Order: sequence, then structure tokens, then C-alpha cells
Amino acid sequence: MTTDHPRRRHARRPRRRTRVILAIGAAVAVLAVAALAVPLLLPPGPRPLFHLPVACGETWQLGTYPGHDDYDVDLFPTEGEAWGRPVLASAAGTVTEAGINGSLGGRTPEDPQGPRGRGGGYWVKIDHGGRWETQYLHMLEPPLVEVGQKVAQGQQIGKLGSTGNSGAPHLHYEQRRGWEKVETWFDGEPSGITHDDREYTVRRTSNNCGPGRP
Ligand SMILES: [Zn+2]
Repeated sequence: MTTDHPRRRHARRPRRRTRVILAIGAAVAVLAVAALAVPLLLPPGPRPLFHLPVACGETWQLGTYPGHDDYDVDLFPTEGEAWGRPVLASAAGTVTEAGINGSLGGRTPEDPQGPRGRGGGYWVKIDHGGRWETQYLHMLEPPLVEVGQKVAQGQQIGKLGSTGNSGAPHLHYEQRRGWEKVETWFDGEPSGITHDDREYTVRRTSNNCGPGRP
């Protein structure tokens, strides 16, 4: 009897076990990647019934201008002070971004011509399911919601401001389907804002009158 046998036996067993563990690990990794990737490859679901992201009954101007981006909408109230106006969730969903995009700059109600920031400033992004998302930019103060929070349609998510790359207090708003921006629809009707070749504005009245209201 040599001393080789026990050593070899001991040496082999862990190697087999290691192979099994590696195989299980690889299978788990493949399943994890598939679980993340497959929903992104599926076609988007039906468009949620989005409402204007502003208070029930108010009339706002929706517009775009050359160099904005196709489908992007800037909202200005037609009456009253713009600063601090409630920004509401267009539809129910889960908050996926709530913070600062770019930099804030220094435009406030006290100093509306203060230094201009970069990007979206204080912003919120909401996932509505079915790969539909909305986003809300240039808000005055840190958002009133946080990432992971569920929001109801019409719930206030922030206050209108002029942070980020913004000339005057307004709400920059987008609707996205899957990977791409799409024409914004409100109350089941398209806004008509489909390109930024020229300045274009339209007025709409908000029907964002609370959860479950048509
Ligand atoms: Zn804009």
C-alpha cells in the first residue's frame, strides 16, 4: 500500500464537485440574464390612459420649438404663476428615477435669470408597466417621491421649476414606449407634437382628476 491512494481520492472528489458547482452557477447566470433580457425583447403593452401631468381642470399650453427633440413637450400654464405648480403623475406606476439629471444651476423664483444648469435638473421617471414610461424635468425642488415608490395617477411628484437647462419655469415632459420616445397622448387623444421642425403650440385642459377618474 502506498500513500498515494488516499491523496488521489481526496484530490479527485473536490474537482468533480467544483465542476458541478460551476455548471449550476453557469445555468443560474444564463437564467438570470434571460429573466432580465426577455421582458425587454417582448413587444410593448397597450398605451396607458395618460392624463396631463398638471392639476385637474387647468388649461396649459403644450409646445415645442426647433432644436427641442421630436415628441418632447414643454408645458406652461395659461394662467397664474408657473413656479411651484404641482407636477402630477400622468398614470399610475413605479418611480424609477428621482433626483438630479445634469446639474441644477441657479434659477429660482427669487433669481429667475440665475445661472443656467445642465440637463434635466430635478427630475422623475415613472415606469407604467408594459414598457411605457413618462419623465418630468426641470422641477424646482427635490422630487416628492423616491425610487421604487408606487404612485397613483394624479399623485403629486414634484413642483414646477427651472432647474437644469431651462430658460423659464416650465415642465419638460416625455412619453416613451420600449426604447423610443413617442408622440404624447392625453385622455386618449394625440397631442399633435410629432417633430421639432418649427415652433408649435396647442392648448389642453387637464383631466388628471384623481385615481380611477376617466
Ligand atoms: Zn423641453
